[in-house]
Amino acid sequence: MSDRYLTLINSPFGRTVATRVGLPRPGVLRRYQLGDPVLEGPLRLGRVGADGIKGLPELLTGVGLGLVEGDSEVVSQDRDASCGVGSVSTRETGRQRWSGLVFDASAASRPGELAELRDFFAGALRRLAPAGRVVVIGRQPQGQDPVLDATRNALDGIIRSLAKELRAGATANLVLLTGDADAAALEGPLRFLLSGRSAYVDGQVLVVGALADESGVADWNQPLAGRVAVVTGAARGIGAAIAAALARDGARVIAADLPAAGEALSKVANQVGGTALQLDIAAPQAAGRLIQHAETRYGGLDLVIHNAGITRDKLLANMSVKHWDSVLAVNLEAQLLLNRALLDSGLLRAGHRLVSLASTSGIAGNRGQTNYAASKAGVIGMVRSWSSEVAAQGGTINAVAPGFIDTDMTHAMPFATREVARRLNSLQQAGLPVDVAEAVGFLCWPASSGVNGQVLRVCGQNLVGA
Ligand code: NAD
Repeated sequence: MSDRYLTLINSPFGRTVATRVGLPRPGVLRRYQLGDPVLEGPLRLGRVGADGIKGLPELLTGVGLGLVEGDSEVVSQDRDASCGVGSVSTRETGRQRWSGLVFDASAASRPGELAELRDFFAGALRRLAPAGRVVVIGRQPQGQDPVLDATRNALDGIIRSLAKELRAGATANLVLLTGDADAAALEGPLRFLLSGRSAYVDGQVLVVGALADESGVADWNQPLAGRVAVVTGAARGIGAAIAAALARDGARVIAADLPAAGEALSKVANQVGGTALQLDIAAPQAAGRLIQHAETRYGGLDLVIHNAGITRDKLLANMSVKHWDSVLAVNLEAQLLLNRALLDSGLLRAGHRLVSLASTSGIAGNRGQTNYAASKAGVIGMVRSWSSEVAAQGGTINAVAPGFIDTDMTHAMPFATREVARRLNSLQQAGLPVDVAEAVGFLCWPASSGVNGQVLRVCGQNLVGA
């Protein structure tokens, strides 16, 4: 399943051919390894006016970023090695490139003030390092003041367009704070979006509310220390990657999957130092068995990752009852039943996290996938609807919507369709299971209690559909 085109195009020969013939040149993504810093080089911070988010520079400095505030000269760069776009100045100052650019647009209240954003980025983007990170911070529109809301919503268009302009594995994302959220709520999202953990998250808008609790992270190499997680569909693919990422981050993991996947499941459970639970999530006794396993082995549960999923693709005109029912049963109805049982069980501890795997098919639709898209759009509806009840119990519930990820599921696609689908996103490549796993991990952090009822897409900014 390796992406030979990606490897070839990043070789000296491939680069030359691609430049001459005009082939797409996907960049090499920066992915997190245990112990990596959030960014490898300095970050530049800009803002609209003088009233930005209080404490943001201090927060960024605390995160360990080489923060530089204010204006600096526009300088030249080596076009090949940078990811900025547009004309290139010839004046070389020898300054280091920016690994990250953060712009605080939260104080913008009139469209005219957005020019300050343009001024900041027009210079700084030319010095953004390969696989650099751009994060814009705004406030969520409130539906009361048209001028204010127009200004705030404009950031959405800016970030979605900028993400399409960046090259060399760089990404751009927007964080929208709700009215009551302050700098503290930004620590988790910024640590995620600026780091290698968000390699395949691009062109997205993440709404962040105030922290629901103050429990911080003592050791950022182990942000999930002390947590007990269950991951369904953990025997392979994205589920196995989620189990590994959660365990790496300190969680104890129950790896659950069908009895038929028993051997692979035991292997995953052993690798992550967890326990294996052979469980058909669509079986009537599934919730009871899961609750019993978690209770007797661990005495409680903190993280529930609904990853198990199936596809049975057919055009709706040819869709059998069996294909329809099985996809809805596994991908949606099982989650509804399991979540209800878990929320009623008293097993979920304070600060619990429920995370469901949705799909961009559930957002944009996909030919031949009415059943699958129904199940995944249903998951999104479920997450939104349950967010208030889950918050009242001290937890959060969110969905992660992957785009095209290299797994056995997508490997079953015909060759030509797969190769085209791989390139149809701003990063011009497929994501890896670990990219989805990192997004799930971020939503599980104690520092993510301000993210609730959200759908986080891990799709490299799919160019088709939504
Ligand atoms: P996969 O087919 O490689 O793995 C799915 C796992 O779920 C398998 O181990 C399977 O045995 C298990 N499973 C299936 N039915 C089950 C059941 N009834 N009970 C327990 N376990 C069951 O799939 P993947 O590509 O790793 O996808 C994982 C999740 O991500 C799915 O929910 C999928 O819909 C979603 N997703 C994947 C992609 C992608 O590009 N691969 C894109 C969007 C969404």
